[in-house]
Amino acid sequence: MEYVEHIVDLVGGTPLVKLNSLAEGLEPLVLAKVEYMNPGGSVKDRIALRMVEAAEKSGELKPGGTIVEPTSGNTGVGLAMVAQRKGYKCVFVCPDKVSEDKRNVLKAYGAEVVVCPTAVAPEDPESYYNVSDRLVTEIEGAWKPNQYANPENPASHYHSTGPELWKQTDGRITHFVTGVGTGGTISGTGRYLKDVSEGRVQVIGADPEGSVYSGGSGRPYLVEGVGEDFWPETYDRGVADEIIPISDAHSFDITRRLAREEGLLVGGSCGMAVAAALRLAERCGPDDVIVVLLPDGGRGYLTKVFNDAWMSSFGFLPPDSSGATVGDVL
Ligand code: PMP
Repeated sequence: MEYVEHIVDLVGGTPLVKLNSLAEGLEPLVLAKVEYMNPGGSVKDRIALRMVEAAEKSGELKPGGTIVEPTSGNTGVGLAMVAQRKGYKCVFVCPDKVSEDKRNVLKAYGAEVVVCPTAVAPEDPESYYNVSDRLVTEIEGAWKPNQYANPENPASHYHSTGPELWKQTDGRITHFVTGVGTGGTISGTGRYLKDVSEGRVQVIGADPEGSVYSGGSGRPYLVEGVGEDFWPETYDRGVADEIIPISDAHSFDITRRLAREEGLLVGGSCGMAVAAALRLAERCGPDDVIVVLLPDGGRGYLTKVFNDAWMSSFGFLPPDSSGATVGDVL
């Protein structure tokens, strides 16, 4: 018989898939690391597992404890899955702009979701930062992973994503491209690849235009999960050789093409990362092997990037003539 003890045992070990149509005419081999193959559906399963296990070891998280984290998305799913395995409770705090679908996914895993108003200042007691801090002190046995400051976030990539890429490419990877949110992926994977290759592998961040990583001020953008308006502790400022800024329009165009032309239904930050990888590929040669990491799948974005009316409403597609309205899944 062939089986694992628990779904959590399947975190990591995701495949590399060649990009064909999108990389046509370009000299390097462009490979995608498909992180939606993780059991919780995103790259964040990796950090969830490592952060929880480290907190168990240090004694910060005790049997029967409660995980409290401000998150609305992928990190919440990863934490909820790991918590289920290990018998912890989860309370996630998210702003009310987060779609009901996303909240329901977390509830489906058995987590409690506390919703806070978006339209208040960060220092307001009802802001989602303050509510999560308050809950940590109020709930007995509460522990907050804090993915923006937890060194186990980049460490999980140093010990899993990085070695996987080195092994899967037989040490032939020349460039690693990824989006930057907390910076955990680029810092951990990038640092490992630099160490193992003695600095040969180039590390390239993809960033939404307007975010701090590419010199912006935090101006709003629509791609989710990447870019910041502050510098997280989990971001190693010395690791990236280059940061390539990508517009929302370009990110979403490539995201839609990944589904239609490569059969990869992935999120908007994946389109952004691939856009950066393709830009890089234009100046690389036939011996180069570019790996681009795709953090999550596209099902969570059907009413956004994959919805023509939504795309038109932001000017990313010509005005919609079908009579469809935003919210219709086309
Ligand atoms: N894309 C998506 C969809 C994400 O949820 C995240 C994590 N915030 C990232 C990219 C960026 O990964 P990291 O936090 O490791 O920089």
